[in-house]
Amino acid sequence: METEFIAWLGDHLGDHPQLRVGPGDDAAVLALRHRSECVVSTDLLTDGVDFRLASTSPARVGRKALAVNLSDLAAMAARPVAAVVSLALPRQGALPLAVEIYTGMLPLAERFDVAIAGGDTNTWDGGLVISVTVIGQLTDRGALLRCGARPDDCILVTGDFGGSIRGKHFDFEPRVREALQLMAEYDLHAAIDVSDGLSLDLARLAEASKCGASLELDAVPVADAAYELASELSDGKSARDHALADGEDFELLLAVPPVEAERIVNDQPLDTTVTRVGTFIQEPGLWSVEVDGKRRPEKPRGFEH
Ligand SMILES: [Mg+2]
Repeated sequence: METEFIAWLGDHLGDHPQLRVGPGDDAAVLALRHRSECVVSTDLLTDGVDFRLASTSPARVGRKALAVNLSDLAAMAARPVAAVVSLALPRQGALPLAVEIYTGMLPLAERFDVAIAGGDTNTWDGGLVISVTVIGQLTDRGALLRCGARPDDCILVTGDFGGSIRGKHFDFEPRVREALQLMAEYDLHAAIDVSDGLSLDLARLAEASKCGASLELDAVPVADAAYELASELSDGKSARDHALADGEDFELLLAVPPVEAERIVNDQPLDTTVTRVGTFIQEPGLWSVEVDGKRRPEKPRGFEH
């Protein structure tokens, strides 16, 4: 199966200027920019845990496996270069499944200029497991880490939040271009991509930065999908609850000094809206401010692995 699959792959992979040796040899060879720092991130997706093949097309799963990694590179302000893809496939129908996974993944790789540098493909008695590792390069501005937020920095977010289960959790756009553009044009202090929930990932960034965060609840951009989900489920959760806790929005959450934040919000330099949703503060922990202006402790909500 593997030989056949490598042959298929060979017909479907384009050239990439930084991929000197691609799939087929013992290892891949990448040309990295002189003295550039390399950023590496990996994600493992398992059938029954991260997706259900029974109800999702393999192409969508393949796209997501790459997209979640690109989102992590975006959060570091790194430019994607290459990806390594490993598949453990159920024995039955392994080849068509592998082809379908790649059919979802390759257009995204092409759009973000990612070389598929290689990987491994095995069959076994279990369900589908996909592991994708991406390699990125930093620009001259360096890496954007979680630990750089300072009290008084503004909390900015791209896009809107909540209800991703209605489709965005598979079809989201990794914010790579947005991160690189903001990094090039503005002074940013810290970032995280919101994978597990806006309030939870904000709390993580604040903790890594040894400060607290005060979230202005009314400012949080709530996705249409969050309103739809709230009215559909009628489980007592508001659309805003979904926006704060659902996760898998894969938007950027940034810590930006006040003057720069004001510039970004006024300029709106991206195709997606950038919104200020609060402020980092000295006092540790996550806090929320409602219209009455009172600050209350807020329990970080989201998906804990
Ligand atoms: Mg992340």
